[in-house]
Amino acid sequence: MRFINFKNLITLLATSTTLIKVKGVRIESCTEPNTIALTFDDGPYEYTSELMDTLKAAGIRATFFVNGFNYWKDLPENKEKQQIWVRATQEGHQIASHTWNHNIPENQTEFEENMKKLDDLVEANTGYRPTYARAPLGHCDEECTIRFEKLGYKLIQWDDDSFDWDYEKGSDGQIKNLDKVIEQSHEKLQKRWDEKKENYLVLMHDVYEHTVKQIVPWFIENNPYKDYKFVTVAECLGDKEFASLIKTNNNDTSSNLNATTTDANNGTNNDSQKDSTSNGVLTSSISIYIITLLTFAIYLLF
Ligand SMILES: [Zn+2]
Repeated sequence: MRFINFKNLITLLATSTTLIKVKGVRIESCTEPNTIALTFDDGPYEYTSELMDTLKAAGIRATFFVNGFNYWKDLPENKEKQQIWVRATQEGHQIASHTWNHNIPENQTEFEENMKKLDDLVEANTGYRPTYARAPLGHCDEECTIRFEKLGYKLIQWDDDSFDWDYEKGSDGQIKNLDKVIEQSHEKLQKRWDEKKENYLVLMHDVYEHTVKQIVPWFIENNPYKDYKFVTVAECLGDKEFASLIKTNNNDTSSNLNATTTDANNGTNNDSQKDSTSNGVLTSSISIYIITLLTFAIYLLF
C-alpha cells in the first residue's frame, strides 16, 4: 500500500459511504416484518366511504394515495366530500399524495404548484401535509423520482398488484367479463401469498366498485397470514414519527366527522387513469459511487 494503511482506508471508505446520499430511489416494499399495507389510489370517490366501513369493521388501517381533481371533479370546492379525509384520519388511515390531477407536469413550477395545491387541501382536512407520494400509474424514472424527493416526498411503489385495474368496458359502459376480472385478481393475490413474503405492499383502487365490494372483502376473508398486521405505509416502513403524527391527529379530531358522501358528479372514469404494473427497480446511483470507491481503494492498495 502506497499512501495509506489498511485501517485508514477502511475508515475512509466507511466515511465516504455514509456521506453518499442515495437519490432517486422508489420504495417498492415494506421493511417491517409481518405487515400488510393496503394502498388505494385515485380517490376519493363514491365507493371510498363504503370501503372505510369495511376496513373499520375489520380493524384495518390503510393508506390512500389521493388526487385533488380526478374522479370527483368538484372535490376542491365541496367541503362535504372533503370530509372523507377527516374521517380517514379519525380512523387512523394515512393520506398520501397521488398528485393533484393524476399528472406530473414537465414544467417544474407547475409541478410544485400542483403538489402544493393537493397538500394544502389535504392539510386543511387532516392537519398534516402528505410526505409520501405515488406517481400516476407508478410511472416515474430516476429523474422524476428526484423531483419528488426534492420536495420532501418518499416515492412509494408496490410489490403486490391486485390487478383490479385490468379490465375493459363495453359500449354500454359496463365492465366486460367482470367475474373473470375478479377471478384474475384473486389468483394474482393468491400467487403472492403463496410466496410467503415477509410483508406485502398491495396496490388497489378505491374508485372501482368491484374492488370495494368484492376484492377487498375477499382479501380480508382469505388472507392466510392472520398474524400479520394491517398497517399504513408509514408504519410498514418503520416511520414511527409519521405514524404517531396520524395518531395524534386521530386523537385530536372532533365530533361531526362521520360524513358519508354521495357522488354528485358521476365522475369520469377514465381508463387511462388506471395504475398499471410498473414495478421495475431503479438502478440507483449508489452502485456507481461504490464502484468508484472500490477502484480508488484498489489503487491505494497497489
Ligand atoms: Zn393512479
